[in-house]
Formats: sequence, C-alpha cells, structure tokens
Amino acid sequence: MRETVLVTGGAGFLGSHLCDRLLAHGSDVLCVDNFYTGSKDNIRHLLHNPSFELMRHDVTFPLYVEVSRIYNLACPASPIHYQHDPVQTTKTSVHGAINMLGLAKRTGARILQASTSEVYGDPQVHPQDESYWGRVNPVGIRACYDEGKRCAETLFFDYHRQHGLEVKVARIFNTYGPRMHPSDGRVVSNFIVAALKGEALSVFGDGQQTRSFCYVDDLVDGLVRLMDSPADFPGPINLGNPVECTVRELAELVLELTGSRSVIQSRPLPADDPRQRQPDITRAREHLRWEPQTALRKGLSYTIAYFDALLANAA
Ligand code: NAD
Ligand code: UDP
Ligand code: UDP
Repeated sequence: MRETVLVTGGAGFLGSHLCDRLLAHGSDVLCVDNFYTGSKDNIRHLLHNPSFELMRHDVTFPLYVEVSRIYNLACPASPIHYQHDPVQTTKTSVHGAINMLGLAKRTGARILQASTSEVYGDPQVHPQDESYWGRVNPVGIRACYDEGKRCAETLFFDYHRQHGLEVKVARIFNTYGPRMHPSDGRVVSNFIVAALKGEALSVFGDGQQTRSFCYVDDLVDGLVRLMDSPADFPGPINLGNPVECTVRELAELVLELTGSRSVIQSRPLPADDPRQRQPDITRAREHLRWEPQTALRKGLSYTIAYFDALLANAA
C-alpha cells in the first residue's frame, strides 16, 4: 500500500522541495501549512497531482489525520520572520511538536523533527558535533527560535523514551536554494537579490562571522535518508555542508557569480549573532552514508538563475 506522508511547513522553502522528492519516490503527500512564511507558489505545480493534498492549518492546534510518516518542518526559519512574533514562534515549535507527537503516538507514525544548528547557539566548540550541548542566551532575541527548537528536541526524546515513538531529529545547518522567498531576510537570498537588482549588499558586523551553506537538494536527500534509517537511530544528527566561509567571502562570491557592480556596505551586527558555525557530519557519513554533493559555487549559480527568472517575471 502507498504510504501517506505528512509534511508540516510543506509550502515553505525546504518543505516544498521535500514534497517534490517524496512524490517522486511514490508516496502520497499531505502538506499542512498556515502560509505564515510559505507560499502557494512553492507548491502550485503540485496542486493537480492526485497524490498531493494541501491543507491550510496551524500546527499549534490539534490535527487529526491518518498518516504513516510525519516530517515536522512548520516554523519560520529566518531571523526577521521568527522575531516578528516571537511568542508565536515558540508556540509553533513547542505546541506544534506536542500536537505532531500526539498525532504520531495515536497513528503509530514515525516522526522527524527539523531541528537546527541554532541549538548550539554561539558555539565554543568548533566544528560542532552532536555531543555539544550548546551556548544559547535564553532571554535574547533569538531565544524564541533556539529555545523553542531545543524544547522540541526534548519533547521528541521524551516521547521516544516514555511512549516508544520512532523519532528522528535532524539538526539542519544553513541551507539555501531556489524557492527561498526573495524578501526572506536570510543572507544568501538577500545577497543574490541585491546583486541582481544592482543594490548594495549589506554585510552585518565585520563580515568575519562564518556559516557553512548547504544546497537544498543535498539537505532533502539527508532528511529522507534519516527518515529511512533504522528505527533504533533517533539522532540527533547534523545535516549541513562542512565547507565554511565568512559572510564577506559569500558577498564577494555572489558579486563574482552575478557579475554585479553592486557595492558591499557595512551594517550593525544583530544581537546574539553566532560568530562561527560548521557542522561535524561524521555521524551522518557513518549512519546515513550521506554527505553534500553540491559545491557552493554550483549551488549559488542554480539559485542565482532561479532569482534571475523570478525578478524578470515580476518586472
Ligand atoms: P520557511 O519559512 O520557508 O518554511 C517554514 C514553513 O512553515 C512555511 O511554509 C510556514 O508558512 C510554515 N509555518 C510556520 N508556522 C506554522 C504553523 N504554526 N503551522 C503551520 N505551518 C507553519 O523555512 P525553511 O527554511 O523551509 O525551514 C523549514 C524548517 O527547517 C523549519 O522548521 C526550520 O526551523 C528548519 N531549518 C531550516 C534551515 C535553513 O537553513 N533553511 C536551517 C535550520 C533549520
Ligand atoms: N493530538 C493531535 N492529533 C492526534 C492526537 C493528539 O493533534 O491525532 C494532540 C492532542 O491535542 C494532544 C497532543 O496531541 O494535546 C498530545 O497528545 P498526547 O496523546 O501525547 O497527550 P494527551 O492527549 O494525553 O494530552
Ligand atoms: N547577514 C548579513 N547580511 C544580510 C543577512 C544576514 O550579513 O543581509 C549575516 C547575519 O548577520 C549572519 C549570517 O549573515 O551572521 C547568516 O544570517 P542568516 O539570517 O542567513 O542565518 P543565521 O544567522 O540564522 O545563521
């Protein structure tokens, strides 16, 4: 029998690519989203697919459906969006996790949580492996997201220990690609859109802070491999590209690849902005036989082509 897979946050950037992948693998997909940051445009091409169903729903409210697998991605991911209504962000992570875990408990579904490298906060261990407990400011402006995701991880492991649920926790590092929202606020989309429009690229702080950027197709492959991994492997597991670069290097690379004459301007560094971030993916290599295949230059060129077409259509 074909299995029905629930993807919460399925109309978002990562969720929509995941829906594509699951449908291509022969699953029926139920996409649940409240369109807080996601868009119907991301899944419009799926609306007439008989194996795809879209449901407008907020995961902070209970959901009674029959499914055999759940990918819980619902949550705004960009700092400007998750800080816009921080209380709702925590509710989405915490109440959303409780409801989706309750659903998994009732249906016996296996459930995967899209957690984040933000659980490591501003790390004192570099690169970050899964045994590191993190350094998060619990009262800072990123806490609604970081602590919400940390509490969701706690809930996943307690439902696993207390109720025997099959859980999977992925700690996703910065991921980019087509279908990021042009005003999403994250650094890759901000830089590409500014470069293509001939506007200044804003580098926050001295630009020496680092991130490690993973292309979306690689990330989705990692999520599916984790979901398919043996039942006795809950994670947590880092998924990300270990190639690290500074934000200034990223700005320069985007200028080179777009051929833009935009200038780079400095802007104040937001509070609690992590200084460095790089995943140790030893566990993913060993348990999932997974590692990213797409180099940053290549992934950026696909993403630039996407935004180029999007801006041309909007003109
Ligand atoms: P996104 O903002 O594009 O997608 C999030 C989706 O969740 C959107 O479609 C949004 O409308 C939906 N959503 C938000 N609140 C909801 C609610 N209460 N009920 C139902 N739907 C809701 O972000 P993304 O980059 O696709 O991120 C997807 C998931 O992956 C998030 O949980 C995020 O925390 C996690 N993640 C992403 C990254 C990354 O770099 N992209 C890194 C770490 C973790
Ligand atoms: N829940 C849900 N869908 C279901 C089953 C449960 O949304 O199919 C919600 C329900 O509202 C509950 C939460 O999940 O508040 C946690 O469920 P659980 O069974 O763990 O706890 P309880 O119902 O005992 O509070
Ligand atoms: N950043 C930047 N310019 C922007 C957007 C972000 O310099 O227009 C910086 C930001 O301060 C951070 C890094 O780029 O150091 C990554 O930011 P993003 O919001 O993409 O992700 P996160 O901080 O959550 O990793």
